[in-house]
Amino acid sequence: MDHFQYKSGKLYAEDVALADIAAQVGTPFYCYSTATLTRHYQLFTEALSPLPHLVCFAIKSLSNVAVLKTLGNLGAGMDVVSGGEYLRAKAAGVPGDRIVFSGVGKTRQEMHLALTGGIRQFNIESEPEMRVLSEVAHGLGMVAPITIRVNPDVDAKTHEKISTGKKGDKFGIPISRAREVYAEAATLPGLKVVGIDVHIGSQLTALEPFEAAYLKVAELTHALRADGHTIERLDLGGGLGIPYTRDNNAPPLPMDYGALIKRTVGDLGCEIEIEPGRLISGNAGILVSEVIYVKNGEDRDFLIVDAAMNDLIRPAMYGSHHDIIALNEPAAGAEQQPYDIVGPICESGDTFAKARNLPALQAGDLIALRSAGAYGAVMSSEYNSRPLVPEVLVHGDHFAVIRARPTFDEMLSRDTIPEWL
Ligand SMILES: *Cc1c(COP(=O)(O)O)cnc(C)c1O
Repeated sequence: MDHFQYKSGKLYAEDVALADIAAQVGTPFYCYSTATLTRHYQLFTEALSPLPHLVCFAIKSLSNVAVLKTLGNLGAGMDVVSGGEYLRAKAAGVPGDRIVFSGVGKTRQEMHLALTGGIRQFNIESEPEMRVLSEVAHGLGMVAPITIRVNPDVDAKTHEKISTGKKGDKFGIPISRAREVYAEAATLPGLKVVGIDVHIGSQLTALEPFEAAYLKVAELTHALRADGHTIERLDLGGGLGIPYTRDNNAPPLPMDYGALIKRTVGDLGCEIEIEPGRLISGNAGILVSEVIYVKNGEDRDFLIVDAAMNDLIRPAMYGSHHDIIALNEPAAGAEQQPYDIVGPICESGDTFAKARNLPALQAGDLIALRSAGAYGAVMSSEYNSRPLVPEVLVHGDHFAVIRARPTFDEMLSRDTIPEWL
């Protein structure tokens, strides 16, 4: 469910016509809906109630500070994977005790930053990392709250680039060695064990892998408690998938996911943390682009649009599908034709869709790539010296630019010429 709908033949974000934003901001641009972000966050809090819980938004999926503030104001926590993301969470006004720090390669500087700025917990991913964190915290006269991320050796049955919970993946420690690693953690002076962490992958479209992983976490909770550890929090990660198409193959709903959590770990007396990214942000955002040319091809026509793979890399990187619609609603029964929808970059990979049926379009027409809120703007680059596209946030009948399009001068001014030239 999202708030990008046609009204009187025009595509709207909530109560704002997207063509009006395009006229003011130019294309391409990302547009996010406050109402959709809010609804998705609330689906999770409702699904987990009445268990004590914290929904930590995975910032890496959509990191604009205005979006973080929107969610933070609702009470959301944040899951960060870098010092930069930590600072974004703080800039959005989220208190440290609602920020969890994940990631396989936290540096001493990042640990220092989070310890001194305030942090709810570090999710530890290896023994060397655990020892370094203890040193850094001890050196500051502090004790760092930690969970240890266990790898439950579960096949998430998702795209291999976003599967993270199988033996051989770089994430966490094998669950078979967990007791040993927790035993060492308990001896380190700068650490305090508070729980267990698990995250098995992204865009999961079935509940079974979660179930398998969470049952293993429940078993481990008992074992670690018997060993004398305090396990009061379970961080169950993110990864619930979203519908990218509007057919009947919708992934499980947050309500069913919540019921699964209650069934598998709900009776352990733990506070539950989850780290959803995509499900909150994915369908809360679209990428709006203008058709530059319609070019006749051998079998079908190309729509050459002003957005490209540097703005939205998911199709090129993961072969992902994004629904594409015209901002002007096609008349009922209007004839459609297949187009290849491509950007201007000199790579064949710069293709958003092949043989996609759309009403006849012309240069100057506007289109929207749906489900682009997650892993869209955050993965964009300036490849081909194309300035980053702006981000716009809609709230009811008004909107604001929440990241402006850099000027060419701004882009060029970041390069410096050495004195010998
Ligand atoms: C990527 C990631 C998430 C978010 O995953 P989604 O699929 O966007 O929900 C959560 N936790 C960790 C540790 C991650 O790496």
